[in-house]
This record gives sequence, C-alpha cells and structure tokens, in this order.
Amino acid sequence: MSVEKVIIIGSGPAAWSAAVYAARASLEPLAFEGNPFWDENRINGTAPLGQLNLTTEVENFLTWPSADNAALGAFSKSALPPDKYAEVAHYYEGKRAHSGKRAASGPEMMQWARQQAVNFGTRVVSDDIVRVDFSKRPFTLFTRDGQTVQAKAVIVATGARANYIGLPSEDRFKNNGVSACAVCDGALPRFRNRPLVVVGGGDTAVEEASYLSKFASVVYLVHRRDKLRASQIMQNRALTNSKIMMKWNSVVGEVFGTDDDGVTGVQLDSTVGGPSEKLDAGGMFAAIGHTPNTAFLKGQLECDAVGYVKWTLPFRTYTSVEGVFAAGDVADATYRQAITAAGTGCMAALDAERWLAEQGEH
Ligand SMILES: Cc1cc2nc3c(=O)[nH]c(=O)nc-3n(C[C@H](O)[C@H](O)[C@H](O)COP(=O)(O)OP(=O)(O)OC[C@H]3O[C@@H](n4cnc5c(N)ncnc54)[C@H](O)[C@@H]3O)c2cc1C
Repeated sequence: MSVEKVIIIGSGPAAWSAAVYAARASLEPLAFEGNPFWDENRINGTAPLGQLNLTTEVENFLTWPSADNAALGAFSKSALPPDKYAEVAHYYEGKRAHSGKRAASGPEMMQWARQQAVNFGTRVVSDDIVRVDFSKRPFTLFTRDGQTVQAKAVIVATGARANYIGLPSEDRFKNNGVSACAVCDGALPRFRNRPLVVVGGGDTAVEEASYLSKFASVVYLVHRRDKLRASQIMQNRALTNSKIMMKWNSVVGEVFGTDDDGVTGVQLDSTVGGPSEKLDAGGMFAAIGHTPNTAFLKGQLECDAVGYVKWTLPFRTYTSVEGVFAAGDVADATYRQAITAAGTGCMAALDAERWLAEQGEH
C-alpha cells in the first residue's frame, strides 16, 4: 500500500484551506470529503461541503461583498467544471433564480473552495473515514466503503454540527427564521427590530441573546429550568439586559410560520405543568450546544468532555498524537466561524509541512 504524505479528513472551509496550502507545498494531499449517499450524513447535516453548504448568504467571509447575481453566475460558470456548476445553477437559472445584488451563498463558496483545492492538485475521495489507527506511523485510516489508506501526517477537519431541538416545524424553517448562529445570522434584515427567541440556558445561550439584543425589539430567553446554567457573570449579563426577557421552566413545543414569511412565532410549553403560551417572534435561535464530528476517532486523539479535539500547543494545530493536526470547528468550541476555520486549516497545513520536513519526510 502506498503511503500518502498527508491525508485531510473533512470538507468545510478548514479542510479546503488546508488542502490549498498543502497542495501548494507539494504535499499532494488526499482529502476525504465525506460520503454524499450515507443517509446519516444527510440527517445529521454532515454531508460533503460542511456546515456552510446548509446555509444561505454568507455576509461575513472576507473578499465576497455583495455582487450582481448574474456576475456571480458568470464567475461560477467560469470557475467550476460543468458537474459542479450544475449543483449551484439554480441560483442563476430557472424559477428559483435570484435577482439583483446579493452576498455569495454558503453552497457556492464551498464549491469554489473545493475547486480551488482541486486546481492545485488535491485528490478528493467522496467517502467517510469511519475509523483510524493513530497508534503507530504511518497512520492507518479506514473508509466507509472498506478501503484502507495510510499517511505520514493527518489533518482532522471534520467540523461540528449544531444541536437543534428536533421538532419537524423547526426543521421546516431552518434558514427561514430558525438558526443556530447569532453571529452568522443575527444582523440579517429579517431579524431586525423583531421579537426573537433564544433556546438554552448556558453561556452560549446568554451570549447569543446578548448579541441579538442589539438587533431585536426583545429577546425571549427560553430555558427549561428556573435557573440558568451559565456562569454567574453571564447570568448577570442576561438578567440585567432590559431587552432580554427570561421565559423560565419552558420549552419550545412548536415553531409557527409560513413559507413566505418564515418564522412568525413559537409555542412555549411549561416544564412544570403550567399552561402553554404563544409568542410572536421573527426568529428562533437554538443555543443548545454543538456536537463535534469526532466519533470516528474513538479515543485515538485526546478530546475534551464534549468531544472537541484538544490542541496541545498554544497557537499551533498540534494534537495529542505527533503528526496528527486538527483544524476548524472540530477543535474550536469558541469561535466557530468559516473564516477562523479557514485560518486554522492554513495553520494545520503549515504545521504538517514543517513537521514532515523535521522528520526528513518532505
Ligand atoms: C446554518 C449555518 C449558518 C452559518 N453561517 C455562517 C456565516 O454566515 N458565517 C460564518 O463565518 N460561519 C457560519 N457558520 C459556521 C460555519 O459554517 C462553520 O464555522 C464552518 O463551516 C466550520 O468549518 P469546518 O471546516 O471546521 O467544518 P464543517 O463546515 O463543519 O465541515 C466539516 C465536514 O467534514 C465532513 N466530515 C465530517 N466527518 C467526516 C468523516 N469522518 N470523514 C469524512 N468527512 C467528514 C462533513 O462533510 C462535515 O460537514 C454557519 C453554520 C451553520 C450551521
């Protein structure tokens, strides 16, 4: 079996950024982008191209100011091969085509990022890595379809997925008023000066509620208990913010809306036997944590209690196993943005290249 210099696992901004840097450093990366046909990937939101492939416009990724839809279409046609262009053609052609100016969408950006990596020679396999053996070098990786591959260095960039409540009505309005990221979506016009609902009781929920209070008319922070789990300082922040209204002992039982207007309200059910309540709301933000995609590592890399891969050196992407690097949301519970994921993807490729050079392997 031939041994790859570097294998990249994942297909979000971290993976493609790592692939571009690794390919340009002549590491001839092999990327496993995930299995598009495995049903669980579709259900969990872990199909190829990562989390951005699940969203609409991305307004905060540098270098993509809003542009005319036709110009974006011309760019896609020029940058992508026909089969990949076909996956984004609906933005420019046919009944669902946009008109006027807009920011690039997540799915377009991820097709462009993937193509950039391919243009520099990255080989891409559309399958999942389901198991790894990092106990000895070269490292061995096992794919869902039964292949075994080996590599001198590995970059884990498998991301994380947002946890949602799990209601069918919530699912219906994802990207149409339901979100799991206030920093990503909070500034969108649809959420401005409207009542918004945040679900959760930890630090993240308070942070999301505080952030949204800059835009919303009022933020209802819905928590199933009568006391927040958040740290004292964060609790104070929520409880002293005049725009945040606590909804204690409550869970969202239903999300209301229409296809045209998106979310228009929610039903709150009591966790202590009280009556249900209907709230008008222009959006609902789930702030009940993320699940890092690390189950396939099965204890081979040191992870924290939630499952995030631990970086072992400050400002480096080193992990507990020498020669294995981690990039993006899979190791970052704090920032979770496309641009930070792309940044750490670059760092992981540079770390891998330097480490391989030190080993005399590159
Ligand atoms: C709805 C939504 C909207 C968002 N909007 C914005 C925004 O506007 N701006 C912004 O900056 N950020 C936004 N984010 C956050 C941003 O998408 C993430 O921070 C970013 O995508 C993380 O990139 P990543 O490369 O670490 O991993 P991810 O994007 O999570 O991609 C990892 C991918 O790797 C693949 N993978 C996982 N496991 C395996 C495996 N075992 N084998 C092979 N492949 C595997 C899967 O395809 C997985 O999806 C949004 C997130 C969501 C969910």
